[in-house]
Amino acid sequence: MPHLLNVWPSVSRQLSSAHRVLLLFDYDGTLTPIVARPEIATLTEETRQRLTTLSRMDRFVVGVVSGRSLADVESLVDVPRVVYAGNHGLEISGGGNDYVHPQAPSYVAELSEITETCEKELAGIPGILVDNKRLTLTVHFRSTPDRYSGQVDAVVVAAAAPYVEVGRMKVTRGKRVVEVRPNLDWDKGKAILKIREDCGDRPLPVFFGDDQTDEDGFSVVQDLGGLAVFIGPPRERTKALHQLESPAEVGQVLALLAGL
Ligand SMILES: [Mg+2]
Repeated sequence: MPHLLNVWPSVSRQLSSAHRVLLLFDYDGTLTPIVARPEIATLTEETRQRLTTLSRMDRFVVGVVSGRSLADVESLVDVPRVVYAGNHGLEISGGGNDYVHPQAPSYVAELSEITETCEKELAGIPGILVDNKRLTLTVHFRSTPDRYSGQVDAVVVAAAAPYVEVGRMKVTRGKRVVEVRPNLDWDKGKAILKIREDCGDRPLPVFFGDDQTDEDGFSVVQDLGGLAVFIGPPRERTKALHQLESPAEVGQVLALLAGL
């Protein structure tokens, strides 16, 4: 699995020869390090500045594709001219996009019922954060002692079970999070396809991500001849063909891209 900076000369040639490049980033663990509580995962001024520079360049379309709610990721990144996708792509804004998956709003009531059950059942567990993002639900247990992990997972699975059994919801997992999401044929990969289509000129897609839900995006961009970059220690389980060690290295790549 080549480290992106080690193969930068050939990658930069590939990017330079494309008429336009769609640069897409996950947020947590990709543009910012993963932190104990999601609200303190703020962008460094340097990263924001680099994203701003890239978003002003004609050769790039810049987007952030996150599991956070759209409003949350928009306010955290806060760079104009960027396309934002929230709730794993169920809502998209910017760059001419103003999109909510047509079926997603019909799940709001069920998600709030599941949220209530989770809050009640997890009340005694330290460090839990139950985050109802309206179109998806995330239970964070990063600040929870390890011995509770199994119990947290079981509670979320049980709370979602009645909805999973009838095909309405699905449970997915990431880094110290369990999520309940509408069982729609939609994910970060589908959102990336939509964002690219809306560009009108089929830019070359590049996607940086660090977690399980980013895998759908990795497949899509590689199928389109683009570049998928996994952030973290090299591993075999990812579909991405390239790797960077950390959000700090993503920052270095942002600077290199600005020089293209
Ligand atoms: Mg992430």
